[in-house]
Amino acid sequence: MESQRKNMVETQLKNRDISDPLVLKAMGEVPREAFVPKERIGIAYSDGPLPIADGQTISQPYIVALMIQAMEVSPEDHALDVGTGSGYAAAVLSRIVERVYSIERHASLAESAKALFKKLGYDNIEVTVGDGSIGLPEHSPYDAIVVTAGSPDIPEQLIGQLKPFGRLVIPVGSLPVMQKLIRVRKVNGGEPLRENIGDVRFVPLVGIAGWKE
Ligand code: SAH
Repeated sequence: MESQRKNMVETQLKNRDISDPLVLKAMGEVPREAFVPKERIGIAYSDGPLPIADGQTISQPYIVALMIQAMEVSPEDHALDVGTGSGYAAAVLSRIVERVYSIERHASLAESAKALFKKLGYDNIEVTVGDGSIGLPEHSPYDAIVVTAGSPDIPEQLIGQLKPFGRLVIPVGSLPVMQKLIRVRKVNGGEPLRENIGDVRFVPLVGIAGWKE
């Protein structure tokens, strides 16, 4: 598994546009096989997303790396991860920043992720069950927020929970299954800056500021 992971970092990440050393190191550390269903452990390091419980997915390694790289995080940062899912993205993020707050609407997924973090000794991740489309105000403001589910729009509440110069990385699209990956950066005065990072496919963000159930 260790050599498969090294191979993933070389071929799927470095050979593309992942160059942030903190991201490459974290991706090389987190055992992805722990986050995939038992029957898929053999293909844990394949170059694509995999199904997990509750009809959800664990994102493709490259997309996880791309999103975390776009967050421009550093070791002293506090980050919010919306859509815990398997917990894989939160785990990678937790190897880079000081603290990760992760929110998931399915209690069962949140529980399994929590158990996994404990088993792996990742003690700087706090998991909350709830609707993360409106963020997690109690631990705000954040240096960076990542949403790993597709939203119809950019939720105002999430921008509101960023520190000055904070970054929000979120898939946005008018169809529930196809999105543009957008980075929103809070700047000094004036409108937040928006950049398009690429095309992605995520399961829908379901909630008050996302899609209706
Ligand atoms: N980051 C995950 C992939 C997440 S898939 C990983 O690395 O495995 C998207 C997740 O977002 C799903 O688990 C889904 O249940 C969750 N989700 C959808 N809408 C949500 C909302 N409003 N608040 C919190 N989680 C949500």
